[in-house]
Amino acid sequence: MQFKDIVGQESIKARLIQTVKDERINHAQMFYGPPGSGKLPLAIAYAQYISCQNRSETDSCGTCPSCKKYQKLIHPDLHFVFPVFKDKNNKPVSDHFIEKWREINLETPYFTFSQWLDKITSENKQASIYRDEAQEIIRKLSLKTYESEFKVMIIWLPEKMNITAANKLLKMIEEPPPKTVFILVSENRGTVLPTIMSRTSPVRIPPIGEEDMSKYLVETYNAQAGDALVVSRLSRGNLAEARNHFQTSRTRSENLEILNNWMIALVKKDIRACLDWSDEMSSKGRERQKSFLTFALHFFRESLMYRTKKPQLNYVLESEKAFIEKVAKAINLKYIQQINDEIESAYYHIERNGMGKIILLDLSFKLIRLIQK
Ligand SMILES: [Zn+2]
Repeated sequence: MQFKDIVGQESIKARLIQTVKDERINHAQMFYGPPGSGKLPLAIAYAQYISCQNRSETDSCGTCPSCKKYQKLIHPDLHFVFPVFKDKNNKPVSDHFIEKWREINLETPYFTFSQWLDKITSENKQASIYRDEAQEIIRKLSLKTYESEFKVMIIWLPEKMNITAANKLLKMIEEPPPKTVFILVSENRGTVLPTIMSRTSPVRIPPIGEEDMSKYLVETYNAQAGDALVVSRLSRGNLAEARNHFQTSRTRSENLEILNNWMIALVKKDIRACLDWSDEMSSKGRERQKSFLTFALHFFRESLMYRTKKPQLNYVLESEKAFIEKVAKAINLKYIQQINDEIESAYYHIERNGMGKIILLDLSFKLIRLIQK
């Protein structure tokens, strides 16, 4: 991962590069900020830059032996820790999942926690950073470096670290062995244990700028400039989210169809159809459910804008205007805030590993009550 592969964030890149030039790389840093802003790829690109044998003023070279190993995430002085789940056969440590970790990162380093969960299990299991992992970290960092001047330990989502693991690591993070850099990458800094947080120096990674995001969407998805801007705004600087909009036009038209069927069931108060609908949705996996809910939320908001005649505030693609009109007619605007709150709450529970089927059915019943109250 090189800095040039990361969308936007130019001032952060410059700041990180400067720490290497000035030889004042902090031994324990916490990259934090909203999802989809590129914290993890920045951490990896920074580590690659630190280790590169032929770095330039603006980036690692991409071709030296160190970079080559970094590009595949197999450098022996680059270590990763991330949430995993327990099973009977193995210790719950990151090394058991490292192949999957490399795969998902090489596909896209802008993945979400629930995409990670989907990658490692199809069941509703909780993933954490466990005490066994802390022991592994201490063991790995007490070894000499193999090839680089620096050892780098990237801990993704330290907020998922349990308290025993954290306690074991406090001393290590406070006084790591020489030439060791911890980079913690947090999506929710408020929930990181304070004892860990106070031992790291914070680096805030903001959402990706609207212009940078638009440019990326135009280049990557061949999007029209107007649509790219709409999606950049909607995604609030979250690349994972923006991609959901474009990933394939199939997903988007599929979402439209699902929403259409759902709306018909809701308006007709057809309980049987709602049951079938939530059944079918629950078979699609967490990510898909979440992407649909985001889409639905967007449509309900837009239909409000449409009904209140503020077309200049409508962030909607040309091809979807007709449907917005239909949705706008079907719902009672007085309850739009409540409808949005219910959808957001369903999203929240699915994100936190709740049972999709029950959550979506419950949501349907609540919306039946609200839609034409
Ligand atoms: Zn290099």
